[in-house]
Amino acid sequence: MYRYLGELLSRGASSALASGCVDSALPASSSLMRIRRYSEAVGDDDPNFFTMVEGFFDRGAAIVEEKLMQDLKNRETTDQKRNRVRGILKIIKPCNHVLGVSFPIKRDNGEWELIEGYRAQHSQHRTPCKGGIRYSTHVSVDEVKALASLMTYKCAVVDVPFGGAKAGVKINPRNYSDNELEKITRRFTIELAKKGFIGPGIDVPAPDMSTGEREMSWIADTFANTMGYHDINAYACVTGKPISQGGIHGRISATGRGVFHGIENFVMEASYMSQLGLTPGFGDKTFVIQGFGNVGLHTMRYLHRFGAKCVGVGEIDGNIWNADGIDPKELEDYKLQHGTIVGFPKAQPYEGSILEADCHILVPAAGEKQLTRKNAPKVKARIIAEGANGPTTPDADKIFLERNIMVIPDLYLNAGGVTVSYFEWLKNLNHVSYGRLTFKYERDSNYHLLSKSLSKAGLPP
Ligand code: NAD
Repeated sequence: MYRYLGELLSRGASSALASGCVDSALPASSSLMRIRRYSEAVGDDDPNFFTMVEGFFDRGAAIVEEKLMQDLKNRETTDQKRNRVRGILKIIKPCNHVLGVSFPIKRDNGEWELIEGYRAQHSQHRTPCKGGIRYSTHVSVDEVKALASLMTYKCAVVDVPFGGAKAGVKINPRNYSDNELEKITRRFTIELAKKGFIGPGIDVPAPDMSTGEREMSWIADTFANTMGYHDINAYACVTGKPISQGGIHGRISATGRGVFHGIENFVMEASYMSQLGLTPGFGDKTFVIQGFGNVGLHTMRYLHRFGAKCVGVGEIDGNIWNADGIDPKELEDYKLQHGTIVGFPKAQPYEGSILEADCHILVPAAGEKQLTRKNAPKVKARIIAEGANGPTTPDADKIFLERNIMVIPDLYLNAGGVTVSYFEWLKNLNHVSYGRLTFKYERDSNYHLLSKSLSKAGLPP
């Protein structure tokens, strides 16, 4: 049944299950409306993230229940079918396992500090579990649970055979030296391994906020040299690794690239654009990015490459604006050199919230719950492309629906990362790189073709 639900989601028959994308009250003919998330008004505009995700799940489950029953072809009575479907939906919703750890590290100045971390495994309906590790002071049990459930639904949407998981370490990485970050990452890996929360066939982390190739290589190395020493597949315990450690080309930019293609599917379609009063194509579109990190930068690169103009970028320490366009490479170089986008010479500082800036496409690519009841009425973008996980609260979503603003949901839009992670995992298990396999296949087929043509022509092979 899980597989069936996954198929339902991946067919797009209703991505509603996960995010509540479908509003049954909307006309069935309106495809645009169908991709919008159902918004359930909650009293509080700062809902607990896990409650928010569960709310979207409940709404989606209510919508698909009838269809799931109809599709059950066994001899059960209607009541039995209903009990079965409701039971399964009940099983899907909660997180299966949550691990909380705390461990000490000795800081460079000789002081000791206790570090807190979590890993949630939402579902083992397919193994291994998969999901990123983030370093942030906002990390909590509920946040990792919410993000882990989103991962299960996201994998189902793109039909990647993993259950969902997520980890978080409650630190601000900017406050730690490289040496301290390495100690934290390696010790966290050991803690996960001791409890069966990491392993190529159990649970496979990946990068998320404030983690990247470097952290993934520390994790792989720690696992392979401790609990995984006897396992030939040990390096498949984590994805997003550098190429030299079994990584795969394109993983770093995969999420941003997926965000671009997801937007492209709608922007190039005249029927969707006409409902928004826009014309198809990127040439006349402006966009704004919130969060110039992995997802934000690569989304910006691809949108820019295909003709859209980036007019604003928002970061935690300041926003920049240039109505004539900001070049992603120049901004990336500036950030690498200065550690911030603030002061970028080819743009002006932007006062006020970048989420409310004038543009066609807004890409939130930072944290969750950024678009709320308070700022949703002031958003000027016509399309909101959810690069981040869970950036829109239910109240904000309702307002966007009323204001005819298209929300392209995170589950679909940022699934490029986990898709390429799947290929990296497969490559690690195969122990043959894709390039080599393709090379050998092409060489053999060319030889085969050539020898056939030569023999037809009566020439020696
Ligand atoms: P990142 O750490 O590389 O970048 C996040 C950026 O956002 C940082 O530059 C940070 O300074 C900035 N930021 C944080 N809070 C901000 C705020 N309030 N206003 C403006 N900027 C702010 O992280 P990332 O990997 O790019 O992830 C971003 C989002 O995308 C997260 O929600 C993450 O879960 C989601 N996501 C990431 C991936 C991936 O492959 N990395 C895949 C799917 C989803």
